[in-house]
Amino acid sequence: MGKITGFLEHTRELPEKRSVAERVKDYKEFNNLYKGNKLVDQASRCMDCGVPFCHNGCPLGNLIPEFNDAVYREDWKEAFDILSSTNNFPEFTGRICPAPCESACVLGINQPPIVIEEIEKHIIEKAFELGLVKPRTSIVRTGKKVAVIGSGPAGLAAATQLNNAGHQVTIYERDDAPGGLLRYGIPDFKLEKNVIDRRLAVLEQEGVTFKLNANVGVNVKLNDILRENNAVVLAGGSTVPRDLPVHGRSLKGIYFAMEFLKQQNKRVAGKDPLAKPEIESNILSEEILATGKNVIVIGGGDTGSDCVGTSNRHGAKSITQFELMPVPPKDRTEFMPWPTYPMILKTTSSHEEGAERHWAIATKEFIGDENGNLKAIRVVDLEWKSENGRPSQFLEVKGSERELPCELALLAMGFLHPLQTGLIDELGVDLDERGNIKASEKAYATSIPKIYACGDMRRGQSLVVWAISEGRECARKVDEFLMGHSVLESKDANV
Ligand code: FAD
Repeated sequence: MGKITGFLEHTRELPEKRSVAERVKDYKEFNNLYKGNKLVDQASRCMDCGVPFCHNGCPLGNLIPEFNDAVYREDWKEAFDILSSTNNFPEFTGRICPAPCESACVLGINQPPIVIEEIEKHIIEKAFELGLVKPRTSIVRTGKKVAVIGSGPAGLAAATQLNNAGHQVTIYERDDAPGGLLRYGIPDFKLEKNVIDRRLAVLEQEGVTFKLNANVGVNVKLNDILRENNAVVLAGGSTVPRDLPVHGRSLKGIYFAMEFLKQQNKRVAGKDPLAKPEIESNILSEEILATGKNVIVIGGGDTGSDCVGTSNRHGAKSITQFELMPVPPKDRTEFMPWPTYPMILKTTSSHEEGAERHWAIATKEFIGDENGNLKAIRVVDLEWKSENGRPSQFLEVKGSERELPCELALLAMGFLHPLQTGLIDELGVDLDERGNIKASEKAYATSIPKIYACGDMRRGQSLVVWAISEGRECARKVDEFLMGHSVLESKDANV
């Protein structure tokens, strides 16, 4: 531990964000790095607890007190080595993780917790700046081949680990660029895409092959992949959005959040948002713009918040966000179990940029004009009953029905499960009761020999940190299957 009294000398401080007035004019990241010696002061707050709960709080089992100490001593090589031993992509989690490690920080019992997420981001940025992130070129090859289907954080983590273990890895991605939701879901103001490209360049130099516009089960034959590879990892994400089938749903002006966000990420990348790849038949033929419109975002989580930030940048007339659940009382965080409460309670950078938020509200009807365009939404307030301190049932509040003007409604109510046509249909793999691929969290093996699954496609919609964790653990199981034992470390080794 670097400084015994650090937590007594310094309070938690985050780097200054770019001003709202400045950042809503572009899609660049809203966060800055620390100036001066602030990072070292923040790292010195770590108490190096006897039992560091932050290890358990982190789905990757990151060695947090160890890298905090290295940062305090400004030993960037050591900090990077420690961090990258458990996390393949700290540049992603350091930007967009809700940081469950910080909720588990012992200092958090009576002081604000250590800024672990920021420290992680600064270590990896420093490592890239100092040239410490180098492709591993001395990998001993095993002669085994693995196909990874899907290039989101789960697929990329599995591919990195399997490649490190010496297997020849090919990633198949149906989109025109790798990254999954990091690329075409999460807006650039949270994660600029050069951050992904910088990492992909390392993976390519290490020998990972990418096949793009390759939709397995549609334009790439699954049987060919099975024949050519010793194992297959399914990491296709959870992509089917939850719909809102109330009266008026077919009006023009109602879209799924991902239709809106994907178009904008393509625009920022300088691509045509309407370009229709041959393999995707259900792509929209109209541009979705919030400019000058009353926008209502239905859904209070991260996806909804990203729609708020994007609508502000488009120049919407007004932005309102709905959440079905009630606001938990400030002193009662157990009111809703994690991760629900931070998701809907959290004030994100997008909310700071301007939006009205309504909790405990339901959409009853979409109302259109004579041309079939959305013009308003009929809503009703909800009264929640609770059981054992948790909301369990709701009733509509009599007399609270009203219409709100709305020309653009964005549905951000989560995702149900992976797409079940194409790949899953063709495979005939077993699904769990929620429609995700059935494979246990310990084994990652599906009902079909030599086929494994990880990330949102297996666990259902989740977080980037869980996707990376699942990709790593799944890779270890595949390595064991191929070699009889694995050279890859399990996170259980750290906690
Ligand atoms: P995905 O990222 O969904 O990647 C799956 C990939 O597989 C996709 O590229 C898809 O095109 C490809 N694919 C699917 N089927 C096939 C096929 N048959 N052939 C070839 N390729 C295929 N999490 C956070 O931690 N922090 C956040 O701030 C955050 N914000 C979010 C914002 C939005 C808008 C959304 C939608 C999610 C957000 N999440 C966030 C959740 C997070 O992005 C996901 O949990 C994570 O990306 C899941 O990773 P994955 O690799 O399992 O799947």
